[in-house]
Amino acid sequence: MCDSPETSREHAPPLCFFPQANDIGRDLRRNLVTVPSCDRHNSRKSKDDEYFRAVILMTAAQDSDTGRHQFFRKFIPASARMPHAHRSFFADKGTIAEGKSHVLQIDRQRFDGCVDHLARALFFAAFQRKWNLPINAISPNFFSGIASDNVLMHQPTMDTIQVSRQFLASETVRGRKPRGV
Ligand SMILES: [Zn+2]
Repeated sequence: MCDSPETSREHAPPLCFFPQANDIGRDLRRNLVTVPSCDRHNSRKSKDDEYFRAVILMTAAQDSDTGRHQFFRKFIPASARMPHAHRSFFADKGTIAEGKSHVLQIDRQRFDGCVDHLARALFFAAFQRKWNLPINAISPNFFSGIASDNVLMHQPTMDTIQVSRQFLASETVRGRKPRGV
């Protein structure tokens, strides 16, 4: 992220993304990726880790056991214990579906900063050099959430996602974690 001297290691993705072994019966905290970090970036990042996890869980919680565990056993109880700390995570834009659902808005600037940080860390871990170009966060998940409504996809964004997937299809998948956990 910068040219300051390394004073610690940071996890990429953040450590809080991975449940403890006694919580889920599998140790997902082994062989995690870490990268060198300065004090300033590591402490700034740790403030965002919980936020980053919360936003990811809004969609990931539907897809995997680990996601559901982190969402229902970690995020929801933590929000109930410390509502003031979590209230700023999502802006409540009101209800839909006759009051059955809430529309929550994420702070894209903050979220994109988290993705930027993670992408640079993973690039460094893989290639031992810095990625110096801008990074854009795009995901079809930004449009999901209301299955019953007709969510209009932003076509240029969806085209970019498709082209990126084709471009990356032949790349080796890195990391030791099984997929879909
Ligand atoms: Zn730094």
